[in-house]
This record gives sequence, structure tokens and C-alpha cells, in this order.
Amino acid sequence: MKIAIIGAGLGGLTFGACAARDGHEVVLIDKNEEPGGVMALARQDGFSFEQGPLILTDLLPEESVGGFLKTLGIRLETVRDDRGVCTPDFDLLAPAEYAGPDWRKKRLKELFPQDEKGIDEYYRFYEALMKLRYLGGQKDSLLKKLKMLAAFSGIKKYEKLNCKEFTENLFSDPRLRLVFNGILADFCADPEEVGCFTLPFVNTETAFDKRIPVERGKNLYYPSYRYIVGGCQKLPEALCGYILEHGGTFLNKTVVQKVLIENGRAVGVRLADGRDIAANAVVGCGSARDFFTDAVGLEHLDDAYRKILNDFRPMEAVFMVHLGVDYDPSAYQKQSLCYYYGSYDLHGAVEKLRGGVYHNGSDGYLIYFPDRHAPDFAPQGCHCVTIYTVCPDRLRDGDWASRKEAFADDLIRLAESRLPGLSSHIVTKKIVTAEDYRAFTHMKKSSFGGAVPIRDQQNPPHITPVKNLIFVGQQSENGGGVPIVFNGAVQAYEKWRKTAG
Ligand SMILES: Cc1cc2nc3c(=O)[nH]c(=O)nc-3n(C[C@H](O)[C@H](O)[C@H](O)COP(=O)(O)OP(=O)(O)OC[C@H]3O[C@@H](n4cnc5c(N)ncnc54)[C@H](O)[C@@H]3O)c2cc1C
Repeated sequence: MKIAIIGAGLGGLTFGACAARDGHEVVLIDKNEEPGGVMALARQDGFSFEQGPLILTDLLPEESVGGFLKTLGIRLETVRDDRGVCTPDFDLLAPAEYAGPDWRKKRLKELFPQDEKGIDEYYRFYEALMKLRYLGGQKDSLLKKLKMLAAFSGIKKYEKLNCKEFTENLFSDPRLRLVFNGILADFCADPEEVGCFTLPFVNTETAFDKRIPVERGKNLYYPSYRYIVGGCQKLPEALCGYILEHGGTFLNKTVVQKVLIENGRAVGVRLADGRDIAANAVVGCGSARDFFTDAVGLEHLDDAYRKILNDFRPMEAVFMVHLGVDYDPSAYQKQSLCYYYGSYDLHGAVEKLRGGVYHNGSDGYLIYFPDRHAPDFAPQGCHCVTIYTVCPDRLRDGDWASRKEAFADDLIRLAESRLPGLSSHIVTKKIVTAEDYRAFTHMKKSSFGGAVPIRDQQNPPHITPVKNLIFVGQQSENGGGVPIVFNGAVQAYEKWRKTAG
């Protein structure tokens, strides 16, 4: 069959690789020059920057993404590094000398002795969920079932709690709650909206110190956060290469305007230049609302699908400042990636985001050194620094284009309190606003990480009411994040394959 894929981001590429592997003719169409969507690089003055994902899970050959890539003959070299967390009152950074896998637990007990019991309970809860995750990946058997039931029974009482309720139950100090809930604001999610079983997976201990083993005995047990050596764009490049090697084509700098539908079936796409491409199946991605409203037509959907489209909440945008610098900032930040939280009021921070109020970095930001695992990103003697934070897609007051320089200066000033001398070492500066992301990703509302992970929220399903029209990517039912989009697209392909015709 001939399959037209609208968007060569990770979702479209993964679906395309599955289809190409099975002998289908794949036509990838993307408005940008290079494949990858937000995984493609941003370049300026001899520097390269990752404009999307930083740190990834499931890339090892024993894990879901790495394992699937292996079946396609694709192997990516990856490395681990530390992730730091700093709050207005204390820093949680991997010690210079390795202090064992539970150094964070010990440090938190030193900082919050009154919450010692709650900290122990959190780590018991953490281990139970890690065990459930591990067992979930094992072959089905009665023993596995019994072990899972035993692990679950110890944490069942928390099943219905959201992250706010759970952390308030365990910790009296709001500063301690921030340690675990802080990352949710990065997903534009209010701790009240997210089920507490999510917390361990967004705070995996192995992410904070690369020396903490991910194995137990001979088995891979904990998730391992990794960077792709040479940059995250290597993944989409490899998938696109695979599709081309298997007879596919990539129409870059090409916009799809319409999905052609006849008698309830997708039969091709119309490009912005007026050309039509006939196809037996069409795959869409990107903004679910834009795609179904503008390219498909809501009249082709049923009430249930229209309701999901209307109700689900996409994330907000990011404001990014990429700097090429002529000094080595890692003297001041040892980790590739460090979160600097500025506020303990996560509910208020998310309200501001949704209300169009930019916090100017004061609610938090992160500093990332992409060339640590991709030395080619910077000319000799220079380095890359990316500073970014979540922000509203549209500002309540003013617009991004006219305010971006001042906002960038504010973010650089904040970062300079952590990286002394930063502003005097800048050789190039690339500012990326919500408006730039909108244009780049072909979305009317920039939403950097897909759907907000709200408990029980249903996102637009892969299989749509239009026959042979499939929807993938970070605003589809799987949600956002590299492994999730990847695995979701593989599953979407399998679901479609069973119903295709
Ligand atoms: C700043 C940032 C940080 C992130 N950090 C992480 C992280 O640390 N870890 C992690 O796992 N994930 C992270 N993510 C999320 C992850 O990168 C995304 O969830 C994933 O890459 C999205 O893939 P996608 O295919 O859904 O969409 P996209 O990457 O948006 O790709 C969609 C592509 O389709 C094109 N397109 C859409 N409509 C049309 C059309 N009509 N015609 C032509 N082209 C079209 C767009 O231009 C785009 O190129 C991050 C994302 C961002 C932006």
C-alpha cells in the first residue's frame, strides 16, 4: 500500500519505518528541511543546539525503543549523565565521591529531619512501583502475577491520590514536596491533576547520578536516562534513512493542506502548492485540533472523537535561549542538565502559564550543556549552553517578537548567578519563542511536549473515524515524550495493520 505521512517528526517517522519494513510505499511530507520535527537541530554560527528533547529513556537494546530499533538494524550510542535539582533553599546534586544509590534519600533526611518517616515511605512507594514496572516487562506467568499483586497491595492505598494529596500526606514541608512535584510544572501540569503513581517515573533516582546502577543482578531493573551521543537528531535521521533505504521518499519543505477523503476513507493528501498525492492510507500528527479542523474537516468525525478533541489539554510552550560561549561553563555546573526551581507554588505557576502570564524565569528554568555528549556541536574551544523554561503560548500583555530580547537578557542574568561570567563569554545567541515553535511545528498553539499528563484524560485516538486515517505523535492517545511517541506510533501501526483494507 502507499502511505502518505504528514509530518516527519518522531511519530510519523516511526510509523513510516514500520510500514517501510513491511514493504509499504512510504511518502513522508514535512514543512521543514530536515526530518525530526522538534528533534531536528537548530544551527547558528557554527554551533548546533537541540531544540527539543534532551534526556531520554528506553534507548538500551534491552528496552522498548532500543529493542525495536535493533530489529530495524539501527543502533545508537548513548551515555548517562547526572541531572541536578536546585531550589531557592538547597541544592540536590550528585556528590563528588559516589555515596551509593540512596544518597538523595539520606540528604533529604538531613534537610528535613521532621519528615523522616514520610521520606522512608516515599522510597518504599518508589521501589514498589519500580518493581511493578520491572515485572510488567517480564514474560506472563502465574508467579509474575502473584509478585505483581504482592507489590501492588503495599501501595494500593495511594491509588486514588493525586500528586498534591500524596505529597501532602507524606511531607509536612512544602519545600520537600517541590523536590518531587517540581518536574510536573515542566509538563505544565498542576500536581492536583496528575495521579501519584506517576511521581517515581518522573523522578527516577538513576537520572540524578550516573553511577547508580540500573541493573539488579544481571537484569536491567530501573529506567535509565540517557543522551544520544552526537545529539538527539541521530534518532530521526536513522529512521528517515531506513525509510529511504526501503524505497520511501521524503518531500521536505512541503506543506499538506488537506486530507482527501472519499466515502469515509482517506485517499490521499492535497499539498499547499495544489498538487494531490493519492494514497491508500494517511497518517497525521502535530496539533490534533488544527489537523482535524483544518486538514481533515470535523464533519468527517463522530461525536465521541470531536468531544475528545475539544476536551483534552495540550501543554504550553517553551522559551529557549541557546548560547555559543567561548569558555567552559561546566566548571560551575557539573551536570549536563540542571533544574533551578524558583517557586514552591506550583499551582500558581501553572495558573500563570495558562493565563498568559510569563514568569520571566522566576518560577524556574533549566540549564543544559548539549555538547557534553555531542562535542561537534561547538567549534574548538567553545561550548553550547541552552537555558529554557516553560511559558504561555500567547502572552496576555504584548507579544513574543517584541519582548524576546528583554526576556532573554533576564534568563541569561538568572543563569549567570549559576554560571559566573556567562554574559561576557557569549559569541552567539539564538532565541526561540513560542511563535518560532508554532511556525516550525505547524501549530496554531505551540505545545512543546504534547498532551498534559492529566489523570484519566483521553487524548485523540490513533484509529480515527475515517477509514485508513491514523493519528500519531505527542497529541495522540499515547501522549508526549520520545519513548512514548515512539512506542505509541509502533502500536498505532499494529492497530492499523489489523484493520487496513
Ligand atoms: C523543548 C522540548 C524539550 C523536550 N524534552 C524532552 C525530553 O527531555 N525527553 C523526552 O522524552 N521528550 C522530550 N520532548 C518531547 C519530544 O521531543 C516530543 O514529544 C516528540 O519529539 C514529538 O514528536 P511528534 O512527531 O509528535 O511531533 P513533532 O516533533 O512536532 O513533529 C511534527 C512534524 O510534522 C510537521 N507537520 C505538521 N503538520 C504538517 C503539515 N500539515 N504539513 C507539513 N508538515 C507538517 C511539523 O512541521 C513537524 O516537523 C521535548 C520537546 C521539546 C519541544
